[in-house]
Amino acid sequence: MTIEVRRLLSDDWAVFREIRLRSLSDAPHAFGSTLAEANSRTEGDWRLLLARRAQFLAARDGRDVGTIGVVEKDVAGHAEVVSMWVDPRYRGTGVADHLVQTVIRWAREREFELLLLDVTGANTRAEKLYARHGFIRSGRRGVVSTNDPRPEFEMVLAMSPPNGPGGYPRIRWSDHDRGEYLRTVRTGPCFICEIVSGRSEYRHHEVYRDEYHIVFLNRYPTLYGQLLVAPTAHREDIIEDFTEFEYLRLQGLVHRVSRAVALVVPTERVYIFSLGSKQGNAHVHWHLAPLPPGVPYDDQQLAAIDLETHGQLVIPETDQADLADRVSQALNKRSPS
Ligand SMILES: [Zn+2]
Repeated sequence: MTIEVRRLLSDDWAVFREIRLRSLSDAPHAFGSTLAEANSRTEGDWRLLLARRAQFLAARDGRDVGTIGVVEKDVAGHAEVVSMWVDPRYRGTGVADHLVQTVIRWAREREFELLLLDVTGANTRAEKLYARHGFIRSGRRGVVSTNDPRPEFEMVLAMSPPNGPGGYPRIRWSDHDRGEYLRTVRTGPCFICEIVSGRSEYRHHEVYRDEYHIVFLNRYPTLYGQLLVAPTAHREDIIEDFTEFEYLRLQGLVHRVSRAVALVVPTERVYIFSLGSKQGNAHVHWHLAPLPPGVPYDDQQLAAIDLETHGQLVIPETDQADLADRVSQALNKRSPS
């Protein structure tokens, strides 16, 4: 009754084809590709797929019962888990864990820094499986493909002790990731208005809210403790859309929140800046980014907040909730001006 796992090579294309077709007919909702697409592939296509990835096959009692793949991403050090499936009759028997351990070992041996994967929709069984092996949600979400609007979310696992502040891993963005982000920013609804109205499908950890302002944690932080402060009303002109009184009232909150975050997170200097334009992220907002002490000068200032250089810090949901809570408490300790 032992589980045997072996890597499929190009000559195993027919075995791969068979198990891939089985997985796509069993769980079409779990994958980004369709049965029709898989059926139309030629022998050459299947061979090429196997040549470009490490695909593993699990067998039990001589029967093929599961598979998992891993592909190198176009970001150095990152690899992605793909095409994972276990025969329903063998779920809960340890096959899935065995497969996940196999790709983790594969990535570790090849000195990858980070394993990433996408979980489609509300697949809690899959999320629990990956969480058991240390994967956490990165905060990044998207849709399955341009033809398939179902939501998916990303989970990541750092291969070695993470080097980010607080010991959190970092994901560097690929060109594709940047493209997706830009598309959302430029064509999607205003994300701040979505958060204010509670319509946002994305979870943002809120630190403070009153009639005029909202403060929440950045979903793509480069620094631990990075926050956004924004007016609750949709304002696009950072000067003309505010009276002097409104502007100073908001800056009073920026000052109080900066002080609160510096009490909670070790901080050499809080960077405060406002970006965005009419073409993207138009809703006026201020970033508060606490620079930790001891960062070399060349890595401070713009470099410290640059996603390209550092990548996004991945902080588990529970830690983010805790951080938001602590900043919120520090903020409430001070009497409002
Ligand atoms: Zn808005």
